[in-house]
Amino acid sequence: MKVVVLGSGSYSGTPKPLCTCENCSRARTNPALRRTRFSLYFDKTLVDPSPDLHYHLERLDKKVERVLITHGHFDHVFGLPELQVFKRVEFYSHREALEVAKGLVRLAFESESPSGHEWSYHELEFWKETRIGDMKVTHFPVVHTITAGGFVVEAKGKRIAVTGDTGPEILKDERTIKLMEGADLLIAEMTHREAIPGSHLGVKEAIELAKRVGAGYTVFAHISHSNYPHEVLERKVRESGVAGEVARDFTWVEV
Ligand SMILES: [Zn+2]
Ligand SMILES: [Zn+2]
Ligand SMILES: [Zn+2]
Repeated sequence: MKVVVLGSGSYSGTPKPLCTCENCSRARTNPALRRTRFSLYFDKTLVDPSPDLHYHLERLDKKVERVLITHGHFDHVFGLPELQVFKRVEFYSHREALEVAKGLVRLAFESESPSGHEWSYHELEFWKETRIGDMKVTHFPVVHTITAGGFVVEAKGKRIAVTGDTGPEILKDERTIKLMEGADLLIAEMTHREAIPGSHLGVKEAIELAKRVGAGYTVFAHISHSNYPHEVLERKVRESGVAGEVARDFTWVEV
């Protein structure tokens, strides 16, 4: 199964308009260093419809049937109306994120489905394994600035764990680490150089999490323009001994 990180960046993307930091300056002249906002795709499933979704969809050129939402922050959901190219879409998340999703759809289409479409919204209870088509999905809570969660998805005999945005508190959360343990693929956030409690992981914490989870392969994503340059992050991951890589936009792995 092919898993694609459509967007590898955090809320302001890289380059951030008007920012003159090293990453933003370099990204303006080298498109390979640009980072759009975080989104993930596998098996007709989209995780987080980012504000860059139109660009992601036209480049991916594949059908989306279901959408898992980690949380209601704008960088993870505000591209949602772009899904109007698909008639039938099922949305899954906790209540707060679903309310944000529905609100955006009402704003764009004056109802909870674009005209002639069949869109549906399904609330997930944290920790409860839910069958969605052929997949088994568990939404687990994380500590972030609003209600937020990650996912462990079992699809086609493979387990994929996605942290979503999370504070470093996840490292002390044995239940969550146990759930993610031994996944075939871990998609871990690595937003900042240094962790921000209750908000985001730093490089050290993201690598520590990858070690604790012990996934077959880890891809680090949701990287801020103010983080280290890409090649420095890659070196840090390589030196840690973790089997994995730092995402660029459209990085894909086969699991
Ligand atoms: Zn985010
Ligand atoms: Zn910058
Ligand atoms: Zn967030």
